[in-house]
Amino acid sequence: MKVQTVWKQRRLDSYRGYIKIAAIGIIVIVFLLLVIFIPKLFKTTDIIADDIVIANEDTKVVVEISTGDTYGIIMENNSVPISIANDIYNKSLEYYDLVTLRAGKKLDLYYDGDTGDIIRLEYKIDSEDELIVAKDLSEAGEGNWSAIRQAIAYEVKERVVSGEVKSSMYQAALENDIDERAIIEFANAFQWSIDFAMDPRVGDIFKFAFEERYLDGEYIMPGKILAGRYVNAGENYELFYFEESEENKGYFDIDGNSVQKMFLKAPVAFKYISSGFTTGSRYVAAFNVSTGHRAIDYATPYGTPIRTVGDGTVVFAGWSSAGYGYLTSIRHNGTYTTNYAHQSRIAVGYGQKVKQGEVIGYVGSTGFSTGPHLHYEMVKNGVKINPMYEVLPPGKPILEENRERFEQTISRLIDMLE
Ligand SMILES: [Zn+2]
Repeated sequence: MKVQTVWKQRRLDSYRGYIKIAAIGIIVIVFLLLVIFIPKLFKTTDIIADDIVIANEDTKVVVEISTGDTYGIIMENNSVPISIANDIYNKSLEYYDLVTLRAGKKLDLYYDGDTGDIIRLEYKIDSEDELIVAKDLSEAGEGNWSAIRQAIAYEVKERVVSGEVKSSMYQAALENDIDERAIIEFANAFQWSIDFAMDPRVGDIFKFAFEERYLDGEYIMPGKILAGRYVNAGENYELFYFEESEENKGYFDIDGNSVQKMFLKAPVAFKYISSGFTTGSRYVAAFNVSTGHRAIDYATPYGTPIRTVGDGTVVFAGWSSAGYGYLTSIRHNGTYTTNYAHQSRIAVGYGQKVKQGEVIGYVGSTGFSTGPHLHYEMVKNGVKINPMYEVLPPGKPILEENRERFEQTISRLIDMLE
């Protein structure tokens, strides 16, 4: 009895063994089927990680470039063989040196969905252009790499905004939900006609049309200002963007004269004065013959860049014993010279030629000065004059042959400002 029981037990154990083996076999087969077929099923839609998106059959990897990342490290970390990384590097060199990839930007890498090999690299060089390096996958291409630099294909929408000045133009624009970068561009377009530190008055109104750039439906940045109006103390200023030729693109008044004049209205760029200044002259000592202060003072922070208001030659750059501290004088022509005083540091040398808007020094408080500010003088035929009231001739008109195209272009823009 005892022997038979043991034998039965053994037979039962061996049945259990067969069942176990069969079950494991089925599990293994099902597992293999899942591994092989599921990725195929979901190949075009699966998102593997936040930074990996599968586009069509190919894989796109968006690499966020961190400080310390080099081109070589990035390629190595993203499974690109050295020989191919070198090919891509050499092909792109004509347009962009990939060694100078900048931290904080992104690099897009595309891989073949079947082989997993890299087939394309994209990099936005600046806000305008992108570098594309791609492998030629056609039969004739023999797998060679080629590179191009091309304009980023933004989707462009046009937007018209307006506002009324209560404290400053900058503040008014911010309150109207306008991108700060668009406000700066708007002010830059008017930099030959309005000094946004000195001129704005409560009740001034502005309106402008500009481009907004989108990528994949996401707002990226403002583009060109297309048309703008600023009504300053009742006086109407308008400008319109027009491309007369490849060399002459920019802003023109309604009569077709370039808004660019011999002098900028202010020796400090709008982006440095935008937040600090309000209407009125609370922060500035203006031209005053009775006190003998024949200059305009711009109270800006220490180190603010100072720009020359016009093209010219540096006729003085150094320490002035007359109380001006570090002083630069620029001679523009036989009539005009401008002086920039109390600088912390001078950026140009005697005899140097300078271009309108070029930085010539930095705001300081040297000489007879009680705090950081720029003392700006304009001298006409040897006499210090008030630059705010100096009327300059209008800019160059467009060529007659472009007149009709100009009228057509701006009629649409005029409507946008209505
Ligand atoms: Zn002064």
